[in-house]
Amino acid sequence: VLAHIDDYLSAWQANPQSPYFRLLSHWHDPVRQEADSNAPAYWVLELTLAGVLLALVGLLLLYWRRGRALNRIGAAHPATPETAREALQNHASPGESVRLNTFHDALTELPQRQVLLGRIEQTVALAANGEAHAAILVFDIFGFGKINDTYGQDVADAILREISRRLLVGTRPRDTVSRTAGDEFTVLLTMLGPRVEEARRHAFRVAHALYRQLTEEPIEVGGEQIALRLSVGFTMIHACSTDVRQVLREAGMAVRAAEAGGGDRIVPFNQALQAEIADRTALERDLALAVQRTELAMYIQPQFDVHNRVSGAELLARWDHPTRGPVPPGQFIPMLVGIGLLQPFTLWTLQVACEALATLRGDMTLSVNISPHCLLRADFVDSVRTVIRETDASAHRLIFEITEEAWLDDLDLAAHKIFELSCLGIRFSLDDFGAGYTNLTYLRRLAIHELKIDRSQIAGLPTDRDSRAIVHMILGMAGQLGLRVVAEGVETEAQAGYLLQHGCDALQGYWCARPMPLAAWIAQQHEAVCGPVP
Ligand code: C2E
Ligand code: CA
Ligand code: CA
Repeated sequence: VLAHIDDYLSAWQANPQSPYFRLLSHWHDPVRQEADSNAPAYWVLELTLAGVLLALVGLLLLYWRRGRALNRIGAAHPATPETAREALQNHASPGESVRLNTFHDALTELPQRQVLLGRIEQTVALAANGEAHAAILVFDIFGFGKINDTYGQDVADAILREISRRLLVGTRPRDTVSRTAGDEFTVLLTMLGPRVEEARRHAFRVAHALYRQLTEEPIEVGGEQIALRLSVGFTMIHACSTDVRQVLREAGMAVRAAEAGGGDRIVPFNQALQAEIADRTALERDLALAVQRTELAMYIQPQFDVHNRVSGAELLARWDHPTRGPVPPGQFIPMLVGIGLLQPFTLWTLQVACEALATLRGDMTLSVNISPHCLLRADFVDSVRTVIRETDASAHRLIFEITEEAWLDDLDLAAHKIFELSCLGIRFSLDDFGAGYTNLTYLRRLAIHELKIDRSQIAGLPTDRDSRAIVHMILGMAGQLGLRVVAEGVETEAQAGYLLQHGCDALQGYWCARPMPLAAWIAQQHEAVCGPVP
């Protein structure tokens, strides 16, 4: 149709006798108008004819312009950054080319999930004969909730609209762009050709071009420049794709893998990823059972003071999987967040600590690791209060070890939680100190009692000059601020000697004692001395 309209317009514009010119000359010829106005019968007839022709020409021009605009976007595919940028500058707003109805998202005017599902279903059916490969790309915006909280909903909405605009500009009219969750967009790329490898490369190129289009230039809203961070996952629709749910699940796995890898990346779905995810899912299921059946174990690692006396100890969780063997806490604790069991697990560790306090020497403290997700939860303080009351533990012998992650998102909230827990008598230790970029002024605001020097700094002692300088600085500053310092990961006599000589309050590490089962420690605590572990 568009090609025909183009043909007609070109032909009419080339022919001075065409309706196009007749109409123009009619409206520009006052003499003719004057003459005609003296003949009422012709006047009415001609005016009606002219009106119809004008409407027709207007309509044709509109179609012609729209066709040109759509062709321009189509030509930008596969969208290179240059063509995409050009299209961005020239293309009309998304609302102009999207017809609104109940199947469209009110905010972005994009087709809704239902429409997308329908189109994927058709695409899967078409791909069954192996000739029309297609791809699904999922874009997940990193930290969108934070953008919403920081700038407000109007700005967040404007950002979502701009994302949808950029995605539309970088795809062809026959592709489908849809907002499938609050901050998640899904793109269906169709007709990628008969050869699957070529189609896959094509899909990756488009994913890459769209990624750059979304991230290279910050989005400007209300005077703010907001840079986006994204995770992108994609999967191919081919002859073996069985149904909509399967392909969406694959694209979902790919985007979750991109997120799990730290974001800012494009991950294609493949069988290895599927196996990895299946394995992870099985491990998560086992972990959930282990938490519910309290099959995790609690180990303890003592801390020794300058007089070689145990001044405190840290509790460290252990999970011995029945078939896989020990799973490190660095692996299973982040998984607890994903399966929503971090809070029950943390309260269990606290319960173990509170009960253990009764069996330990009265002046010994016990340190418990508290993940930021837990600390910042609305019900955490109340739950801690309940455990302390029910176990009748002395809260002033409890130390909560937190990392700087706890206040990266919301300093005021973290400070408030720390204050509330301090009111119960609990003290706070800043874990892994010297490994990150802790802003020292926070130390005062956060009512911190102790610093734990990260083992990466201890490892260089006493020979490495930088480690010496950093440890000196930490010890000096802690002395000025009246903070206690514990060194963790102390593995050699030389490290232990150096630290004690320079004013470190306590040592924790393999040189003194390895983490051991809590029950074993309780039985032998009175004989403990810091020294080489056999
Ligand atoms: P972290 O809190 O920094 O714990 C210290 C880690 O250093 C422990 O590893 C401990 O076993 C290890 N370590 C102690 N002495 C030495 C040493 O001399 N040399 C070396 N190379 N390592 C030493 P682990 O037990 O594998 O725990 C790893 C991390 O898992 C902990 O780091 C902590 O962030 C987390 N974690 C462990 N248990 C819990 C828990 O109950 N709750 C929470 N939220 N996190 C926990
Ligand atoms: Ca710790
Ligand atoms: Ca640590």
